[in-house]
Amino acid sequence: MHSLIVKDPAVLVSPQASVLRGPGLGEPVLRWGDSVLIKDGVIAAIAPFAELAQQALRDTATIVEATGRAVVPGFVDCHSHLVFAGSRVDDFALRCAGASYEEIAGQGGGIGLTVAATRQASKAELKEIALRRLGRALRQGTTTMEVKTGYGLDPQTEMKMLEVIAELNSEQPIDLVPTFLGAHAVPRGMMKSDYLREVRAMLPDAAQIARFCDIFCEEGYFTPAESLDLLETARSYGMLPRMHANQFHSIGCIDTAVELEAVSVDHLEVLTVEEISRLAASDITCVMLPGVSLFLDIPFASGRALIDAGCIPALASDFNPGSNPSLSLQLVMSLACLRLGLRVAEALACITRSAAHALRLERVGCIEEGWQADLLILDCADYRDMIYYYGENHVQTVIKRGRVV
Ligand SMILES: [Zn+2]
Repeated sequence: MHSLIVKDPAVLVSPQASVLRGPGLGEPVLRWGDSVLIKDGVIAAIAPFAELAQQALRDTATIVEATGRAVVPGFVDCHSHLVFAGSRVDDFALRCAGASYEEIAGQGGGIGLTVAATRQASKAELKEIALRRLGRALRQGTTTMEVKTGYGLDPQTEMKMLEVIAELNSEQPIDLVPTFLGAHAVPRGMMKSDYLREVRAMLPDAAQIARFCDIFCEEGYFTPAESLDLLETARSYGMLPRMHANQFHSIGCIDTAVELEAVSVDHLEVLTVEEISRLAASDITCVMLPGVSLFLDIPFASGRALIDAGCIPALASDFNPGSNPSLSLQLVMSLACLRLGLRVAEALACITRSAAHALRLERVGCIEEGWQADLLILDCADYRDMIYYYGENHVQTVIKRGRVV
């Protein structure tokens, strides 16, 4: 048995395990004077160190000192496009120099560049690139991450991406949750109807690895009807549906998500009052991605309105080369407070407990007995400092399934 104690933190901060919506999101469980005993990757006891000490001695537990520092649950990034090859920094530099999106695409940039580079990269190369990114995410407190395909847009490369995600899951500490996003865009030179037929044909193989199926439901991409059709078929193969919805336009994706009983709708920068009430009456998690709004300079989601209406909110990075190249979930929380109207405790809940719920992970995202021991020791005594002193990394020690990593 492997045992570890996080000794004498300034405070343990956890979202309430049973709360996914409503005012309780802003009311975290705060424990002063307690330490955490972990056995075999699971939180076994939360009590003053004196009470745990004997057991720790018996188990020859590793003791991790946390004096003067706050401890929070590990972060869960429930929406990322982690695996891709090629750099879009030239696009970025052109944009900073005043070039338009069309001019950048005309010079060979944009998603076309990423798709070409990802198709060309070997599995080993893709793994190496993604592994470096995972290391950066881990150091910033990410202990679980959803990862989507969608830069292959052909059967061979989409499966290559899924295999990369599955293999990396067992080769480094962050738990990875694979999502099939074959319907991310229509590949250049192909008719949409032909490509959708190809995506449907990929579903049985994709379902061997992917837990979720996603689609980019948006004007100029895929319609609500196409989304319904594809995601229903995906479900028949065992993949749960989620959707990129309402990033630029409200075209009926929310109705489709409600009809499908989708697990989540992600983006929601453009949302009508009626759509908010429909989401509030559903069990769909509303995943907001404020890093995208910052990077693309588009409106931010109405986080306050979603929470006040009774929706289930969550936050994620949407890490990707085109619209948010940042892996920092601490920055996401700061933006959520500064631009989405979230309270500090709500932002923490949205990046831990609620994000784990969006991935249908049980007992992940809280500091409670019987829950997975993914913990972060911060460099500050007040956890709110991590969000207030924004743009910095306040994670000092990462504990994943009970081990310091
Ligand atoms: Zn995305």
